[in-house]
Formats: sequence, structure tokens, C-alpha cells
Amino acid sequence: MIRIGQAGIPLSCKGRTNKDGLVYTKEILDLNSMEVQFVRGLYVMEDEEAQFMKEYSQENDVELHVHAPYYINLADDEEVEFSFEKILFSARLADKMGAKTVIVHPGYYGDKSERKTLKKIVKNTKKLSSIFRKEKIKTKIGLETMGKQKVFGDLDEIIEVCSSVKGVVPIVDLGHVHARCNGCLKKQEDFKEIFEKLKTLKLEYYIMHVTGVLYENGNEQYHLPIKKGDMPLAPLIEVILDNNYNVTLISESPLLEHDAVYMRLQVEKAIMKRTGKEEADYRDLLEIL
Ligand SMILES: [Zn+2]
Repeated sequence: MIRIGQAGIPLSCKGRTNKDGLVYTKEILDLNSMEVQFVRGLYVMEDEEAQFMKEYSQENDVELHVHAPYYINLADDEEVEFSFEKILFSARLADKMGAKTVIVHPGYYGDKSERKTLKKIVKNTKKLSSIFRKEKIKTKIGLETMGKQKVFGDLDEIIEVCSSVKGVVPIVDLGHVHARCNGCLKKQEDFKEIFEKLKTLKLEYYIMHVTGVLYENGNEQYHLPIKKGDMPLAPLIEVILDNNYNVTLISESPLLEHDAVYMRLQVEKAIMKRTGKEEADYRDLLEIL
């Protein structure tokens, strides 16, 4: 099953609430995923809106994710408490919405070694996960791969934390992976390697952020529209179709839903190429399996 959506309320959606964005995502864009952004400071969502999000997304099969505020540091004992607060605030709302994950940026090395940072992050993520259990929050913690050298979270590190802490899943930000390795995602083999690495986690689904990205010396500078970046979509799509992976592709491009729909069209084009037909639905892979 392929799921496609965008991070945030679609730019072309007149209503500016998450509720408006969700309905628009389904009815106008014909997409089946959305990531709700609680990224800039704390965001308030009334229970009523959260309840609507839950019911609507379940009835219409739209998968929801929530992105917690950007500045989080699970590697620093002084900052961890405030980070927990921000994550839990997002997670409680995510749970009310029935969101699958609450997406978190793990933290910074600071002056610690990579190993020591990893240990701290594992320790604090375990703590966080036990609070989730105590509060009966069913939404999973999604740890995102990060695109700058000084920030904890290359793919191997994220996998290691996920394999050490129950209830934590990786959010593979392909733009970040691509930036961090200075543009290494080009061919099918490059994307295959990502799925190979993830195998040890025995995941039932993969959540990926997709965007074009400008980078320099292994550091992300800023996001670009997919077509303006140098990470090709076609080899990724081929790998997903070849293996029938359950993948959610969330556009984080500055063009948001425009690029989400572009991904949808690229997936459908790849399906048509395989079936020889003139129509395809990205949700229906039966004919090519
Ligand atoms: Zn993020």
C-alpha cells in the first residue's frame, strides 16, 4: 500500500485549520495521508477538532501523523524535561486524532561523542516511551533522520535507537539522508540500501519525508521543490513497487501538496508503465503484483 500526503495544511486550501486541510487533502487532492504540523511553538487544538480529525481520517482512510516542535533535545539532561513537555503535548493531541506517529527531532551531539549522545538519547527515549505507556498513548514516537552533521540522527543512529527502544519507529527523511551524505541518493541501489538497513527493525510500514534539498559539505541548507533538487524520484518508486513495500511518502517540499500530487502522478505513471494501461490508481497495486 502506498500512501501519499503533505506536511501541513495545503497551501491552496482556503480554510487554514487542520480540519480544513484534512478534508481538502482527501476530497480535492485525492491523497491519503497528512502530517499535522505543531512545529512552531505550542499549538492548541480543541478537542472537537481533534475528534473530527479522528473520525474523518478513519472514515476516509487518511493516515495522520503529527510533527512535534522542531527544537527538541533528548541528548541533554538540562533540556530533556522541556523537550518531554513539548513532545507529550503533541502526542496527547496526536493520540486524540488517532495519528500513527508523533514525529520528533532527536537532539544534538553538543560536545559529547557520537556514542555518548546515542546512549543518552536511548535512555531518554526509553523514559519517554514509558510515559507514553503510562498515559496509554497509542501513537508511536517517530524519530526522524536529520540533515546536518552536528545534529544527531544519521540513518544508522536512528535505526540503533529504534532497535533499542520499543514503540519507536524511524521517520526516514530522504532529503536529510541525501544532504547528509552529500547527494548519495541517485540510483535504485541507493534506495534499496536504505530498505536493506531498515530490515533489522522488521517494520510493517515505512514513513518517509520527501523533498528536494540544497546541501553543502554534508549539511542541509534548505528545502527545494522536488524537481529543483538532485534526488530523483523514479528509482525510489521502482524499489517500492518491486517490493510492494507499505510506504507513506510525505512531501516536505516548499510546494507541499503540489509536490505530493506530483509524487502521486509519478507513482501512477510507473504503475501504467508496468500494466500497459492508460489509467492507474496509486492505491491499487493488485495488477502489478
Ligand atoms: Zn522534521
